[in-house]
Amino acid sequence: MAIDTLDPRSWLYPTPRGLYCKPGDFYIDPAVAVSRAVITHGHGDHARPGHRAALATSETLAIMRARFEGMPDTSQQPLKYGESVRVGEVDVQLVPAGHILGSAQAVLEYRGQRIVVSGDFKRRPDPTCPPFEPVPCDVFITEATFALPVFHHPSDMGEIGKLLRSVATFADHTHLVGVYSLGKCQRVIKLLRAAGWDKRIWLHGSLLSLCKLYQDHGVDLGDIAHVSDAILETFKGAIVLCPPSAIADRWARRFAEPIPAVCSGWMSVRARARQSGAELPLIISDHADWPELTQTLKDVGAPKVWVTHGREEALVHYARSIGIDAEALHLAGREEEGA
Ligand SMILES: [Zn+2]
Ligand SMILES: [Zn+2]
Repeated sequence: MAIDTLDPRSWLYPTPRGLYCKPGDFYIDPAVAVSRAVITHGHGDHARPGHRAALATSETLAIMRARFEGMPDTSQQPLKYGESVRVGEVDVQLVPAGHILGSAQAVLEYRGQRIVVSGDFKRRPDPTCPPFEPVPCDVFITEATFALPVFHHPSDMGEIGKLLRSVATFADHTHLVGVYSLGKCQRVIKLLRAAGWDKRIWLHGSLLSLCKLYQDHGVDLGDIAHVSDAILETFKGAIVLCPPSAIADRWARRFAEPIPAVCSGWMSVRARARQSGAELPLIISDHADWPELTQTLKDVGAPKVWVTHGREEALVHYARSIGIDAEALHLAGREEEGA
């Protein structure tokens, strides 16, 4: 069969278990346990326990072991960024996605055709992982979490500046900052360090193990400590990180008049910010905003784009307007963790 007549849908297509690559006999980020999975990154809607075999970056496999009690029943195959391995009749490569530690795009090649499954990604710099690398391809599968022209995330250092100004202004209060445990937490710590905050950063217990994992992978988080270890600490003027759900929890009552903040791309949506209980909503996202998404379509130059994972219609419409053959791809089991 000639390359240009090979229908990409004939070898990579959605099934109820997830996106299936037929000539490689594997699933990418499947929604259920399967015999062979390629995992783009450690977030819960992409990495699930129970696969018989999992191929991912060693960082992603470490995150999965931390979350899934070691995964003793899964045969784990680490693949370095940029290295290629043959699975069945398909060459598989993992390329940085710039989303969280270990996050990768899966680059699949079969009979001269290249499909890139980008997983979740963003384009702006993140001190906890290497930046997204655009890979020229025949089909690009993109996420669409923030795929509306209204989504323009501000600069993350500007948002961190807002937090630090509030800490300086309300020096008798505790700033309680809601962050998701995988990725957002460690990135916010690194951003605080880059902005000059070198004091101890306090952590809710549920954030400890993944911070340790990041440190073990060479991400220097500076002076961090568990809130429960502080017996005589008043937390006045302190920055305390916790999961967003803990802000309204009994746990938060130990702090006198805390000022709640939440870091998420969704904080640009007023209703979501209000719902989160954040007095200080900080727009810090691990996903591409509209300008990043549209720039990425131009950078990879794929004649075909499949859009998944969010607001498909707007991005499909945009892609078609610039001559790309675009369609929505509906995948099972995608819900956002830590946007
Ligand atoms: Zn993710
Ligand atoms: Zn996701």
